[in-house]
Amino acid sequence: MSVLTSGDHPDTAPGATANGANAAAVDLGPATALSCRECGERFPLGPIFACTSCFGPLEIAYDFPADGPEALRARIAAGPNNIWRYAPLLPVPADVAEHPNLNPGCTPLVRADRLAAELGITGELHIKDDSGNPTHSFKDRVVANAVEAARAFGFTTLSCSSTGNLAGAVGAAAARAGLRSCVFIPHDLEQGKVVMAAVYGGDLVAIEGTYDDVNRFCSELIGDPIGEGWGFVNVNLRPYYAEGSKTLAYEICEQLGWKLPDQLVIPIASGSQLTKIDKGLKELIQLGLVEDRPYRIFGAQAEGCSPVSRAFKDGHDVVRPVKPDTIAKSLAIGNPADGPYVLDIARRTGGAVEDVNDEQIVAAIRLLARTEGIFAETAGGVTVGVTRKLLAAGVLDPSATTVVLNTGDGLKTLDAVAGTTGPSATIRPNLDSFREAGLA
Ligand SMILES: *Cc1c(COP(=O)(O)O)cnc(C)c1O
Repeated sequence: MSVLTSGDHPDTAPGATANGANAAAVDLGPATALSCRECGERFPLGPIFACTSCFGPLEIAYDFPADGPEALRARIAAGPNNIWRYAPLLPVPADVAEHPNLNPGCTPLVRADRLAAELGITGELHIKDDSGNPTHSFKDRVVANAVEAARAFGFTTLSCSSTGNLAGAVGAAAARAGLRSCVFIPHDLEQGKVVMAAVYGGDLVAIEGTYDDVNRFCSELIGDPIGEGWGFVNVNLRPYYAEGSKTLAYEICEQLGWKLPDQLVIPIASGSQLTKIDKGLKELIQLGLVEDRPYRIFGAQAEGCSPVSRAFKDGHDVVRPVKPDTIAKSLAIGNPADGPYVLDIARRTGGAVEDVNDEQIVAAIRLLARTEGIFAETAGGVTVGVTRKLLAAGVLDPSATTVVLNTGDGLKTLDAVAGTTGPSATIRPNLDSFREAGLA
């Protein structure tokens, strides 16, 4: 394995060494370099995220284990019951499981027969339920990977721009790792997310603006001396962070008995998760861990923030930014960085991108809760709602094996459903009163 050092490439990308990180001689396991997704140019592993030649996003390049599928499957099976079982495929050191971290992952893949029956699905329907992660969203997966990069680069402060869930995941992971945290959110988030982002004792800063304003602010902060020594998990650590989403692909296939599902329905905020799930599936095929056969990827957005869905339907390659207005605040990114890649993947795999309105999101949250006992946050309402819509339109195949993601916990977005559900009756504590309520 050859690890390039920063000395090999003096002309590094924005933020390369500017904010005080030590990029020399890092050990991030099988990760060997950063590679530009657009032009393929390679850079040494470091806290950089954009190509200096073409400004394309950087991705991790690997030297994967060459021990063959049987040995690799056995190695994974012998690993811990969390995402670190896939450490041979992630940008983390081999002893990662011994570091203090929140050990997310290995969340249930729930066979959803009752929901399938209501939706008219005759094949297998599964919900990949990520609400049970340590801070109750899928973000713990990506943050856990970013923490390892922060450690490798010598960052002492962990930061992010967040639509809510990420701020909580960063706060908790920093507390556990003994790092300082300072996270940035739009000022109008759900109370559950604000409290959760603050309770771990780091600094939480609410910004008067949208997520896209918060994100712009963070990019400025990185270039300023104030940001020296700061690892922004979704900005200068983004290539490492993003790889965490591959673990969803790995887990889903392992839980299906090392088989690819036929169809996946995935929510889109920046599009990073969807893009990296596709990358994870391709890696499993490349490594021979699953059979090479087609799968289709479907993206799900809220109508009030649906720039990718719009572009898909209009047949465009570029995603026109929008100003978000939806109850699905975790997905409210009006200018999604990975939007064009999502369009590519949906088109290449024979999938689609669709959106649902707030009313349909709430109905889908209640449908999933009623049929499967899973209380999803609004993002889960978006994926289940889009699944329903795509089935009705004949776009999803009802006889195929379908996996729908629930990426967060309904307790964080209570307001979305609070007005639509509640006690069936309020009675005096006696039998007559109960009888009168008509529920006996
Ligand atoms: C962040 C988030 C996503 C997806 O985010 P991407 O930016 O597209 O990777 C999905 N669901 C929830 C609940 C989230 O918090």
